[in-house]
Amino acid sequence: MEFFYFIVFFVIGSSLASFYCVVATRLPEGKSIVKPGSHCIVCNHSLKWFELVPILSYIFLKGKCRYCKTNIPIYEFFAEIACGLLFGLSFLYFGFSYSFYVSLVLISLLILIFVSDFKYMIILDSPLVITSLVVLGLKWYYFSLYTSFISLIDGVILFVIMLLIGFLGKKMFKKEALGGGDIKLAFVIGLTVGVPYGLMCLVLSSFLALPYATYSMLTNNSHEVPYGPFLISSLCIVFFYYDKFSYILNLFN
Ligand SMILES: [Zn+2]
Repeated sequence: MEFFYFIVFFVIGSSLASFYCVVATRLPEGKSIVKPGSHCIVCNHSLKWFELVPILSYIFLKGKCRYCKTNIPIYEFFAEIACGLLFGLSFLYFGFSYSFYVSLVLISLLILIFVSDFKYMIILDSPLVITSLVVLGLKWYYFSLYTSFISLIDGVILFVIMLLIGFLGKKMFKKEALGGGDIKLAFVIGLTVGVPYGLMCLVLSSFLALPYATYSMLTNNSHEVPYGPFLISSLCIVFFYYDKFSYILNLFN
């Protein structure tokens, strides 16, 4: 039965990922996410149902548009696999529970931010708002309205901390160190895991970003590194390994 649910959530995750790729590429360009339907961005030919099956279509079409043979972006294929796997695995890990539903929301946000931030250096507002509302709702449902309220305050605290980090960074480096999207994302982090774990996310994210930042500085002199993907990855890691991180946190008590 577990395996059955794994497949179900894998399929849901990979299908949602195709939708997230549409959202993360159309919204930054100011296009509608519903109209027109899925089409090839080069020759405009609208896609048939068999060209829209997540993962499999990419394999059967050999990664190319059926008409103009333009390459379909490979990140869509990987996003579908990653989202499917993560949905399935978090079911195996958490079962039907509060943590499972929150993890689905966080994974969705992860996919959206990876695509929009790496491609356009943008973290969209709407997914952040939706994530916050769903997480608050789940906290209310599973715990209490009071818990949601406290989480809201935790979100504001982490938002302010990140704002200060950005301010200091600007003073020190004489340029914008953090984007507005990163600071808003800190709100979501505080809201989801609270202030102490949230601070751990911030620390972890800088470690995760370091190799990539060094690499991009060495290769193309571009100091502009999207930070969102590393922030949301740390949030997911901390959320999945709460117990390991609570051990570290206890060392400070
Ligand atoms: Zn085409």
